Amino acid sequence: MQLTFFGVRGSTPAPGAEFIEFGGNTACVHVELNDGTDIILDAGTGIIPLGRELISKKTDIHVLLTHNHWDHIQGFPFFPPIYQPNRNILITPGQTALPEHDAILQQMSGSVFPVHYKNLPSNIEIKPLADDVQSWPLKSAKISRLKMNHPGNGSAFLIEADNAKIAYITDNELYPPYKKETDFLDFVEFAKNADILIHDAQYVVKDMPTKAGWGHSIAEEAVKLALACRAKRLALYSHDPCRTDSDLKQLENHCREVVGIAQAPLEVFAAAEGMSFNL
Ligand SMILES: [Zn+2]
Repeated sequence: MQLTFFGVRGSTPAPGAEFIEFGGNTACVHVELNDGTDIILDAGTGIIPLGRELISKKTDIHVLLTHNHWDHIQGFPFFPPIYQPNRNILITPGQTALPEHDAILQQMSGSVFPVHYKNLPSNIEIKPLADDVQSWPLKSAKISRLKMNHPGNGSAFLIEADNAKIAYITDNELYPPYKKETDFLDFVEFAKNADILIHDAQYVVKDMPTKAGWGHSIAEEAVKLALACRAKRLALYSHDPCRTDSDLKQLENHCREVVGIAQAPLEVFAAAEGMSFNL
């Protein structure tokens, strides 16, 4: 399968000359299975350029949403396939504390958006799963999920297909000051031997304690998880919108030093828009 990053920011988009190398779009990752199935993780602004590519296809689009925070759904009203007549778009919402499964559509109503979702010509289906469902088939893939530590909660996803394993865990606070949904060791088991672990790394040590409880992890904690689960690659993800290209390179180098000290065969990098992996 092919994995491509289309949006790597958390919180808000980050336009400007200092953000060009890693990109300024919010959360969106595209996974194309070898059987041609398109799976999209989150619908931040990165889904807009991805949608421009997908309009040339006619096949179903599968969207897995971690949660409904704005940076994970705000690209959807501008996602070109929703304006294609009869295009099938199937959405699995995240396990959020408030069961607002259609929040991604409700943002296209009232006084905040000019096109009402009920007037879209595509077939958009939102399919929440029973709370006890932990894994299910999606075409040739097996999808699993795990609750995340985040205000309002949400789901982490695991995609297993084509003899490869992708773990997508954002927004997640590995060591929150509030009651945890999921323990560190459960994340280790979930992402064990992943070919690529994409994990929240929005903060650096000096952001604490101010931002403790805001639902994101310190980059070194993401490295610790990747080492513990013996992932092959770690993509630092959900970059703080104030983190410039040079800040991210510094963060990446620091995390590589940590991996070097551990003498582990882990490849770590800060996720950038356009990065693509054939797994
Ligand atoms: Zn969030």
